[in-house]
Amino acid sequence: MIILGIESSCDETAAALVTGDRQVLAHRLLGQEAAHAPFGGVVPEIAARAHVEALEPLIVAALADAKLTLADVDAIAATAGPGLIGGVMVGLVTGKALAHAAGKPLIAVNHLEGHALSPRLSDPDLEFPYLLLLVSGGHCQLLLVEGVGAYRRLATTIDDAAGEAFDKTAKLLGLGFPGGPAVERAAALGNPKAVPLPRPLKGSAEPHFSFAGLKSAVARVVGQYSPEDIAASFQAAVVDCLIDRTTKALRTSHGATALVVAGGVAANTAVRTALQGLATAHGLRFVAPPLWLCTDNAAMIGWAGAERFAAGLTDPLDVAARPRWPLDPNAEAVRGAGV
Ligand code: ATP
Ligand code: MG
Ligand code: FE
Repeated sequence: MIILGIESSCDETAAALVTGDRQVLAHRLLGQEAAHAPFGGVVPEIAARAHVEALEPLIVAALADAKLTLADVDAIAATAGPGLIGGVMVGLVTGKALAHAAGKPLIAVNHLEGHALSPRLSDPDLEFPYLLLLVSGGHCQLLLVEGVGAYRRLATTIDDAAGEAFDKTAKLLGLGFPGGPAVERAAALGNPKAVPLPRPLKGSAEPHFSFAGLKSAVARVVGQYSPEDIAASFQAAVVDCLIDRTTKALRTSHGATALVVAGGVAANTAVRTALQGLATAHGLRFVAPPLWLCTDNAAMIGWAGAERFAAGLTDPLDVAARPRWPLDPNAEAVRGAGV
């Protein structure tokens, strides 16, 4: 089985060809950092236009890399949300057009399901159920992944996502955009104990995350310490919060076969190392995708498509793009926060 995956929900345009037995035959990606950098964040209208220009050549190139044509593909999987609606529509409409023209089934993939299942692409031994820490630019959640399409949300952020906190901290420190990798590089040169910073909700009886207070605390100390010490102390605070909340979730996620991390922040070495230690302490296997599979890419969308296709799940050509699309439809809204 060969799936063409298409991703365009934020500021990466990507196309990949993935097989049902976990081979990534090709993956192409074009980031838009340079286009958005002057604005210090992703500008939706610029992103949508850039996706229009980039997507078709990337698909053509990915097919050429894999020495395939559309006729060789079994199904087309495109991100249908959540994300910036203009970009999502570019990828989904392209997927629909190709599916219609080539007479292939369409699979509308939830971008978060792409992140959630990506560890099963890199690790063939990862079985359901597993406890997943999904940490990305727009989300920070703990999920019990019980199967394809079966996600139970145990915790979410009541304000900012972890990646958002990295991006805002980078902006406050003048480290540029995107912020996560820049903060990690600066942190490597600083003292994680130099700056006293809060650990919001650490030890709290509720299961959730919060990062807005940490960002505000960073804003108050800018100029009082070196950027490196602030970055290192900020990263240590984020890691403490992630570990505290994940430790709590481990108490209620009986039967989990592994502790798993996915999403852009999963590319952070301090985060990975701390979670590895936590898993070991609980006698659990730890699974983290390779770094390129953590941040947005189309291989994870192709793989989620492969998992859904194998389960008999395809979508009609009039399926809608969704700016918001929770993985767990039963999860309750938390304070005024996102899903
Ligand atoms: P979502 O998946 O929630 O819709 P997104 O697709 O924008 O959001 P991802 O591409 O999964 O998010 O992740 C991007 C985020 O990951 C950014 O906030 C970025 O700063 C962060 N990030 C990337 N690399 C690192 C790193 N090495 N350390 C910390 N954060 C990182
Ligand atoms: Mg991005
Ligand atoms: Fe993402």
